[in-house]
Amino acid sequence: MSLRLYDAHNHLQDDRLAPHRHAVMEAVQREGIVKMVVNGTCEEDWPEVLALARKHRQVLPSFGCHPWCVEERSAEWQKALQHYLNQGPAAVGEIGLDRWIKDCDLPQQEEAFVWQLRLAVERDLPVSIHCLHAWDRLLELLRAEPRPRLGFVLHSYGGPAEMIDPLAKLGAYFSIPGYFEHDRKARQREAFKQVPPDRLLIETDAPDQLLPDERNAFPLTDVGSGKPINHPANVASVYRFVAELLNEPLESLAMRVEENFQRLFRTS
Ligand SMILES: [Zn+2]
Repeated sequence: MSLRLYDAHNHLQDDRLAPHRHAVMEAVQREGIVKMVVNGTCEEDWPEVLALARKHRQVLPSFGCHPWCVEERSAEWQKALQHYLNQGPAAVGEIGLDRWIKDCDLPQQEEAFVWQLRLAVERDLPVSIHCLHAWDRLLELLRAEPRPRLGFVLHSYGGPAEMIDPLAKLGAYFSIPGYFEHDRKARQREAFKQVPPDRLLIETDAPDQLLPDERNAFPLTDVGSGKPINHPANVASVYRFVAELLNEPLESLAMRVEENFQRLFRTS
C-alpha cells in the first residue's frame, strides 16, 4: 500500500539540489510525498522558495531569517519578509538561536528571532525553529514572548529529553531527521521516545543531514563539491527508521504524522 508522507523541514531551494531538481520532483511524486515545508533562510533564497511553491503543489513555503544569516541581513529585510508572507499560504522559518556556530552574535540572533516570532503571532502562522546549544535561552524567550496559536516545530530536536514536556506545553512539535539514525545520535533517538504522540513530525532537512548509507534510498551528489547530499524523497526512509525506533506499525505512524502536520501547518 502507498503511504501519504509529509516532510516537516527541507531546503528544496538549495543550490546543491538545483541541477537535480527535475528528477528530485519526479521521485517526490512517485514516493507519495503530499507536502513538504520548504524553508527559506535569507533574503536571497526567498524568491526561489516562492517560485517552487508556485510550481509544485507539494511545497508549503516558509520564509525566515536563519540565525546563521542574521549578520548579512539588509536594512530592508523586514519589509521583504512581509512581502513574501503576503503571497499566499506560508509558515515563518527557519528562524532560531545558535550558539554552536563560531563567532555567533547572540544579541543579533535574539533580536531577529523575537521580531520574527512576534510577526508570526500577528499573522497567525506556524513557525519552524532551529536551535543549537541555546535551549535554556530559547525556553526563556518562548515563555516571555507571545507564542503562535497553531504551535511551532523544533526541527531536528537535539535538546535534552527533560525539556520536551515544558516545550510541548508551550506549543512545540518535534521533528526527527534520518540523520539521527547514525550510531553517535543515541541520546537524540532516546529523547524522541518521550515526545507526546500528537507532537511528532518527520523531516529530511535535505540536502543536509544525510541518513546512514544502508537507509539512503536516493543517493545524490553535489555537482560542485562531489560530496553526497540528502535527497528529499528519502523521507520515506526516515518514516521506516522512526517506525522501528518507536516500535510502531508504519501505517499508524504515517496517519499520526499526517494529523500532526495538518494541525500545525493547516494543510489538508
Ligand atoms: Zn534547515
